[in-house]
Amino acid sequence: MSTNPFDLANAGIRNLSPYVPGKAVDALEREYGITNIVKLASNENPLGPSKLAKAAVAAASADLTRYPDGAGFRLKSKLGQVLKVSADQIALGNGSNEILELLARTFLAPGYDAIMSEHAFAVYPLVTLTAGANVVSVPARQWAHDLDAMADAITEKTRIIFIANPNNPTGTWVSRGELRAFLKAVPDTVIVVLDEAYFEYVDQENYPDGVKLLGEFPNLVVTRTFSKIYGLAALRIGYSVSSEAITDLLNRARQPFNVNSLAQEAAMAAMDDTEYVSRSRNLNNLGVTQLEEGFDALNLNYIGSVGNFICVNVGSNAMAIYESLLKKGVIVRPVANYNMPDYLRVTVGTEAENNVFLAALADILATS
Ligand SMILES: *Cc1c(COP(=O)(O)O)cnc(C)c1O
Repeated sequence: MSTNPFDLANAGIRNLSPYVPGKAVDALEREYGITNIVKLASNENPLGPSKLAKAAVAAASADLTRYPDGAGFRLKSKLGQVLKVSADQIALGNGSNEILELLARTFLAPGYDAIMSEHAFAVYPLVTLTAGANVVSVPARQWAHDLDAMADAITEKTRIIFIANPNNPTGTWVSRGELRAFLKAVPDTVIVVLDEAYFEYVDQENYPDGVKLLGEFPNLVVTRTFSKIYGLAALRIGYSVSSEAITDLLNRARQPFNVNSLAQEAAMAAMDDTEYVSRSRNLNNLGVTQLEEGFDALNLNYIGSVGNFICVNVGSNAMAIYESLLKKGVIVRPVANYNMPDYLRVTVGTEAENNVFLAALADILATS
């Protein structure tokens, strides 16, 4: 009888359920033999990346021989100028997902807790368990982070609190006032990770800019990404902004060449195309309204979202509706694994993509 490797694995790894990504377009093509697929499942920008970013990738691909700049000097300088922070406060990651993992590896260990909200982004429990630490999940309030309850959950074992603003998949958000009151209540022995993956989409007046709070709260780490509004998810690049002391720790924990050269060049070029960013934001605002009106017409409830995605309540046969949408060539995201079994999360697409989705959904609801 041979040893089962499962029994050799760390307890944290044995206890976690792997991340379930949105279904890939080519997988659906293979399985159902259909084409013209509309993928609204991974919160990607339906416009794709800026032309400037594509040109930068093409130019950078002329020389793939050299290792990338592991320190990301030029990109961090540029980010530092735009964000008005020192480049030494910025750490680059292979997606902001890697930054979340570096934070967990740096600050968590067996015996420690990470606090997060119910329905919060699935990567937080993953990185926490991988580090051997415990997940403390705090019940949500009307789908949103209950910051008072999260502050009350802090014990001497707490090392990290994760807050996604806005949260994925719910699209809910916390205001500047709520966030500042929360940060004041958190002892400086606890690292607060403020995940701003959708920062550039949010228009609300009292939506906080985490980077502006860093001076007041040295235990705060803000994470952002080029995967969402910048449309560069395939290249895997994100970053954190924090105190120099925390940044130094993250840089010790990362691989020497964790962010490739194409991603660094594309990110710098994407930052120059501010017109593209505002066009993407405007398209998203129109798309949110279009989807909300579509859901209203179908008498479906949804959770108000400030991101580029919306969770809609389709009832207890959400999984069957998801499958029926797949057969019609529309990929959305089931969120039963977020304890939201009646909901589907749909990414805001182009006007045409949103129409295809709404028509397919109307069809399915009419015949089910
Ligand atoms: C998409 C997403 C991320 C990370 O994306 P990367 O591609 O790894 O940068 C992080 N947090 C939330 C809440 C997200 O939805």
